[in-house]
Amino acid sequence: MIKIEHLVKNYGNLSAVDDVSFEIESGEVVGLLGPNGAGKSTMMNILTGYLSATSGVVEIGGHSVLDEPLAVKKQVGYLPEQPPLYLDMTVEEYLNFTYELKGCTLNREQHLKEVCDVVKIYDVYKRLIGHLSKGYRQRVGIAQALVGNPEVIIFDEPTVGLDPKQIIEIRNLIRTLGKNHTVILSTHILQEVQAVCDRILIVNKGKIVANELTENITRAVQAGRRFNVKICGPKSEVLSALRELSGVVYAEQLAERDGEAYTYTVESASGTDVRKNLFFTMAQKGFAIVGLETLGMSLEDIFITIVDDTDKPTRQGARRGKQGVSRGDKSALEKELAKDIVRRTADGQRESALGLDSDKKEEK
Ligand code: ADP
Ligand code: MG
Repeated sequence: MIKIEHLVKNYGNLSAVDDVSFEIESGEVVGLLGPNGAGKSTMMNILTGYLSATSGVVEIGGHSVLDEPLAVKKQVGYLPEQPPLYLDMTVEEYLNFTYELKGCTLNREQHLKEVCDVVKIYDVYKRLIGHLSKGYRQRVGIAQALVGNPEVIIFDEPTVGLDPKQIIEIRNLIRTLGKNHTVILSTHILQEVQAVCDRILIVNKGKIVANELTENITRAVQAGRRFNVKICGPKSEVLSALRELSGVVYAEQLAERDGEAYTYTVESASGTDVRKNLFFTMAQKGFAIVGLETLGMSLEDIFITIVDDTDKPTRQGARRGKQGVSRGDKSALEKELAKDIVRRTADGQRESALGLDSDKKEEK
């Protein structure tokens, strides 16, 4: 549905978008996640034809943004970072104005009513936009994007400046829209992409440094590779038994004591789940397991690691030789996962640059 190839946008000697390529399938909800200044708004402005690119290809629904701007704009609804609202118009006037501006041919009354129902602004339809709260204004901005029923909807930081209740409402709305639209959403809030997006593109310094399905990341984060286990028995014997278990890369005893049981933190190597084996081994030795708690990885740490690592491409290259999880390093698992994601994304980009067909990519 959306295809971007070798997209570049330079401002003087700053590359706001630096050779970016990715594709988005019809019906996907994709989140552009990245720190401020990463280039998210610039990419969105180019996608919607607001800004011209320095070079590269941008196509939506098979139409080139450069050569067929009108055909592209018909398919795209856009909520920019600063919604283009006229504060001295009523919601009704503004949406009618938008309807005409877009040259919409749908039944006017019915269509505008449908749009207002979706974003829940019918109760303020006759009011001046300037008199509405920030949350309602944001919804009017979304309504504007929905006029004409475009297949693709692009939201730039849609929840900035809203209160927690409004944030949840807007996220729910985006999730609803995602059921029958292709949605691109930019944010610097991790939970936001996790809550609403099928896929996460992490943008840093004008480059896509990670491109992963949200469920893959979530699954990896919850893979049960780090847990606390409470075991009865002599500390040093239990600890050596833990360290000898196949697949365990880290085991340490915590200060916590519960009767005759001590708590141990255990980490296992990528792709292994040692919990069953742990149970049988300890049972055989007569050390009873009286508690087991899986510890999740922190998505925040993974995100920060990805951004940090890709800030310093030379250092990352220098460290590439190091493999596995180092003992005693609390965030070693997060670092390992972050590196995996960045590596896979870079491999994917190299492959698409070489022009391998998409079937091959899916096999991976
Ligand atoms: P984001 O939306 O991810 O916060 P932007 O796309 O707004 O980032 O900006 C990316 C980079 O491009 C930033 O370093 C920003 O300062 C720069 N930039 C954006 N617009 C302009 C402009 N019109 N002129 C010069 N630099 C710009
Ligand atoms: Mg921005």
